[in-house]
Amino acid sequence: MSDSSPFLGPLGLVLAPVRGRLLIATLLAACGSMLTLVPLAGIAHIGQLAIYATGTAGAIGWTIAVSVASVFVGMALITAGEFLAHQADNHLTHRLRLAIGQRLMQVPLGWFSERTSSEVKRAMQDDIGTLHSLTAHFFTTLGRAVGAVLVSVIYLVAMDWRLALIALLPFPAFFLFLHRAVKASAQHMGDVAAGMARIDNSVVEFVNGMPLVKAFGDHGNAQDRYRAAVDDFAATFTGFTRPLVTAMARANALIAPVTVLGVVLLAGMLFVALGWIEPLQILPFALVTPGLCAPLQLLHFITHDLNTAVAAAQRLQALLATPVLATPATCTLPNGSEVRVEQVSHAFAPGSNVLSDISFTLAPGTTTAIIGPSGAGKSTLARLLLRFFDPDAGRITLGGVDLRQVASPELYRRIGFVLQEVRLLHASVADNIALGRPGATRAQIEAAARLANIHSRILQLPRGYDSVVGEDAQLSGGEQQRLSIARAVLLDPPLLVLDEATAAADAESEAAIQDALAHFAQGRTLLVIAHRLDTVMHADQILVLDQGTLCEQGKHDELLARQGLYAQLWAQGGYQDTESKALPTC
Ligand code: ADP
Repeated sequence: MSDSSPFLGPLGLVLAPVRGRLLIATLLAACGSMLTLVPLAGIAHIGQLAIYATGTAGAIGWTIAVSVASVFVGMALITAGEFLAHQADNHLTHRLRLAIGQRLMQVPLGWFSERTSSEVKRAMQDDIGTLHSLTAHFFTTLGRAVGAVLVSVIYLVAMDWRLALIALLPFPAFFLFLHRAVKASAQHMGDVAAGMARIDNSVVEFVNGMPLVKAFGDHGNAQDRYRAAVDDFAATFTGFTRPLVTAMARANALIAPVTVLGVVLLAGMLFVALGWIEPLQILPFALVTPGLCAPLQLLHFITHDLNTAVAAAQRLQALLATPVLATPATCTLPNGSEVRVEQVSHAFAPGSNVLSDISFTLAPGTTTAIIGPSGAGKSTLARLLLRFFDPDAGRITLGGVDLRQVASPELYRRIGFVLQEVRLLHASVADNIALGRPGATRAQIEAAARLANIHSRILQLPRGYDSVVGEDAQLSGGEQQRLSIARAVLLDPPLLVLDEATAAADAESEAAIQDALAHFAQGRTLLVIAHRLDTVMHADQILVLDQGTLCEQGKHDELLARQGLYAQLWAQGGYQDTESKALPTC
């Protein structure tokens, strides 16, 4: 069987904890729907009793009583099934949300920088929502539809198998047409997907290029490409839907109640003419057969839900299987704040090292600047220190203890970070600053904000420290970075990893950030991915990275005297232009 069976493949794995409940819910719904159809047989039976005058009032009364009782018991069973399915859904959703939350707490921080929050949100919210419609509704609907079809077919065959055979003919024909429709449209599916991708790309290009269009009046390219993609897609989509719509219309016409009834009556009359059945024997067929249309169509629709749920389950399974950071069996407390990077190598893809055999020490209270061209591995090195991921080879120690042996809260109490991509929560400014120290008093928060040069700007916000980020606190890039400096200040770590702002901040903000950092850095160990001349010049140690290797290390004067890569960089006109210059290699 294919993976689209609800109890196999990724979906089966995700549904495993509630499989029993879902099976019972399906059975209850199936039995319930069978019972609710008993009155139809009851009516046919009463008709026979009345017309042939073989029945007493008592027999008719019994038939009515059994029919009514069946409807009530059937509805009670369906309700019980629905209740059980919703309970299973609630249990599963709760369990999945907790499991994903738990997993996300353990995945390396680097995992988040490689993903957009909308990707994570899709799995946690949308995919779980998709599973909700499966667990809460699919199984009971399946049970009801299959139950109704099954009991109807058995009843009709029992009444007269020959007439049943003919009366049921439109239904296999319906699935045959449907299959053809799906096959015909499948040929165009690739074109539709390609068309969608073309629209996606051209939308991004169109939106990204909007400032250029506005500034330079480039009304041509991006717009034309977008319009061509949209027009192409419209044509492709028509090609995709035309065979589908025609075949679907034929299929639906085949099982429309009036068609089905027509077949029953024609075949029934023929049977009567041939003397095979009595006219009244047509009645159960006329009552029951048209009722098959709805559940069969329903079965077709819910298969679509199943396919969507399989895709959602695959994404959830992948999320739940995300590799986690190794947690130490026993945690050790670092002794001091010296950091040693020992022969560290790291690769994101096998065989292509981003960092190779890097070793250096961050002595307490000193400032180290990492410089090098774009792509040299500076951010990767800083992120390894923050344990966004673990190195493939070598080790990094803090206070003599391998980072892998340090419990995360202990690590982040000792190493703070201010990175270029500042993450702020949709919460008050005060809460954003106190993220790592929820118990901090307002006075402590304000003191941190003062040191980070952001206090007076916060006071200008409509509700001051209570203003909510993204609502009444709209902050510029530089202001956001100062807010994250305040966050680090409040945590008061002995070590700070800092990715210096480049072009993001305006001159005034830039000066404020530098001032804040200068205050904060006093007496602390600082590792800076440096973009500024004065940071590099005054650092106690400069690490020159190139293509993942540490080419040179030392103080500004020493490195100049060495006449190596660093000296060449200076000769080229200063480090601040490194990113844009063709660099000599080491
Ligand atoms: P720098 O900070 O010096 O500009 P990075 O450390 O950001 O350099 O990147 C070094 C190399 O590693 C680059 O080639 C970059 O494309 C690659 N890289 C960085 N992060 C990832 C990642 N998460 N997955 C794959 N490759 C990455």
